[in-house]
Amino acid sequence: MRVLVTGGSGFVGKRLQRYKSNWAYISSKDCNLMDQHACDQMLRKYKPDAIIHLAARVGGIKENAENQATFYYENVTMNTNLLECAYRNNVKRVLSSLSTCAFPNILCEYPFSEKDIFNGPPAETNFSYGYAKRSLHVQSLSYRKQYGVNYSTFCPSNVYGPNDSFNDESSHFVAALIKKFAEAKNGDTLCFWGTGKPLRQQLYVDDLVKILPVLLEKHNSDIPLIVALKENLSIENMVQACLRVSKKNVDYYFDGSLDGQYRKDGDNSRLLKLIGEFKFTSFEEGVKKTYEWYNGN
Ligand code: NAP
Repeated sequence: MRVLVTGGSGFVGKRLQRYKSNWAYISSKDCNLMDQHACDQMLRKYKPDAIIHLAARVGGIKENAENQATFYYENVTMNTNLLECAYRNNVKRVLSSLSTCAFPNILCEYPFSEKDIFNGPPAETNFSYGYAKRSLHVQSLSYRKQYGVNYSTFCPSNVYGPNDSFNDESSHFVAALIKKFAEAKNGDTLCFWGTGKPLRQQLYVDDLVKILPVLLEKHNSDIPLIVALKENLSIENMVQACLRVSKKNVDYYFDGSLDGQYRKDGDNSRLLKLIGEFKFTSFEEGVKKTYEWYNGN
């Protein structure tokens, strides 16, 4: 089976390439998915049997909150072009990445499950990114219904690990955390945004990468399958884990500013039913590996 992966130069795409080197990977330099004609030409060239669609405009909490129009326009346009061109080019299988950010900001029960995705608006801080991801799910469902193709979606929780972006402006929390501790000197006091209380599920990138080929093969349904591990830690728990891993003598405090969603943990029981037993990497273990990778790169 010829598999094409969009977003191949991104964080998840780079790790997937190490694991599945016989698949084809594209970045925005190979094809700008904002351009429908270019997207169509690219699919004529690759003639894939299946696509894993990872390409997206992704960013940290601040970048997301300050660029809502850009995040909406770019994600909706890329997704619309990719799925429509895939259908026109007779691609019967597309597995697309959403995010647990697509789920409502507040729900009555946690962990939430796949059926909750439309039960309220996403968090204000990633409002347009969340709705753009929901639109990708709606588009996939619509093509399933009208054209009988297997276009399905999955929702990873926050992802971290080697090859993440450690750039100050666009990095996610765990990458920023690791960078801070790696660059700290003994005796420093580190400042973190917010209160340290919000809870997050953090998925080690290589776990996601191992799960993706199984989903490509087995996930043929209209549910936005949650890909997460049960472990749901507070931001402060994560800071403490990184402190232990760094073995540094530093202090830290929370500045009480922007917190984001309080919790957004998803239920992974549908995932485990589909893929069977899976040994997820614990946060402490994953942070250790990422910290070592960061120091070595
Ligand atoms: P990333 O590192 O930001 O990579 C984004 C990828 O999309 C890059 O390969 C980029 O290509 C490509 N891209 C952006 N604009 C494009 C365009 N106009 N045309 C073609 N390609 C374009 O993202 P990631 O962290 O790997 O995320 C992968 C997927 O997982 C995304 O769908 C994201 O929403 C989802 N996800 C990620 C997380 C997370 O914590 N990272 C959590 C949940 C879900 P260039 O390098 O050429 O710009």
